[in-house]
Amino acid sequence: MNKDDINSIKTLLSSPKAIVIIPHKNPDGDAIGSSLGLYHYLKQFNHNVIIIAPNDYPDFLKWMPAEASILKYDNQKENCDAVITNADLIFTLDFNALSRIGDMEAIVSHSEAVKIMIDHHQQPDDYATYMYSDVSMSSTCEMVFNFIEMLDDLDKINSDIATCLYTGIMTDTGSFRFPSTTSKTHNIIGQLIKKGANNADIHNQIYDTNSYARLQLLGRALSNLKVIPEYRTAYITLSQEELNAFDFKKGDTEGFVNYGLSLKGIIFAAIFIESHQDEIIKISLRSKGDFSVNEVSRTHFQGGGHTNAAGGKSELSLSKTIDKFISILPQYKKDLNP
Ligand code: 5GP
Ligand code: MN
Repeated sequence: MNKDDINSIKTLLSSPKAIVIIPHKNPDGDAIGSSLGLYHYLKQFNHNVIIIAPNDYPDFLKWMPAEASILKYDNQKENCDAVITNADLIFTLDFNALSRIGDMEAIVSHSEAVKIMIDHHQQPDDYATYMYSDVSMSSTCEMVFNFIEMLDDLDKINSDIATCLYTGIMTDTGSFRFPSTTSKTHNIIGQLIKKGANNADIHNQIYDTNSYARLQLLGRALSNLKVIPEYRTAYITLSQEELNAFDFKKGDTEGFVNYGLSLKGIIFAAIFIESHQDEIIKISLRSKGDFSVNEVSRTHFQGGGHTNAAGGKSELSLSKTIDKFISILPQYKKDLNP
């Protein structure tokens, strides 16, 4: 995003607009945090701003300021279609391809609205009028902070914006420990706390709201953990039957994949979660160092993401998906062998 882009966007935003903000499907803390952070910023200028999420998200995100105003496309399609059709401006946040918004893809790709992408995923598609894409960024929330700074509006950051942006930076950096966390990230976090983000309270809202059933499900996931030391790999499976037995709710498996990566010597971890509803196995991949799970997911599992965190899916059965996973490991022998 260069100076000319910023000036054009400043001009666009200088009069009231109908603005839609869209995070990716199955939104996470960064997707919802960045959408709400941007929402609270734009609302200060008399724009009509509406966030439309493709579908629902976990309960542990349902406390952020103005969260209740977010529309969900999958349960009010007609209303959302009308809002999108009337939009002057569409911000797409925390994703790199319109296929990531599921059933919203067609109407958004045909919309004549000016589109602004803010995102940190690898290999972005070229659908936006203005593109702020930077794969070195810890999170889209960090980029929304930068975007507000580029617009010379840091003084407009209030405690609602600070709370939302803090949340997404925290969740996408694994609480500030992933390598994408830079001194600039910490500097921004410092400014957000100064502007009113309550760090202890946010951490508590996100991480300390476990149900007993979720901890039991974690217990099952950990007892299913398998290790393949010759490829420094670990993986977890959860069948639909197991999810049902522990009263699974959206978001309950968030973070489970990281336990594999916490094993000494392991640099590649995966979790395979069966979904009868979606008729797929949902896959999360994580790595340490240079081993690119984005590449693994794009090549074998219809997904993508970042070097050290990616998602994907498989239409095979759970056991066939595991067979496939194990069968591809030798291709990565050079990177994975100890
Ligand atoms: P998670 O494993 O937590 O679902 O996702 C890890 C990272 O990969 C996130 O940044 C997420 O946005 C991205 N991701 C997850 N699923 C997909 C997918 O199906 N396609 C692409 N391109 N990225 C994905
Ligand atoms: Mn993100």
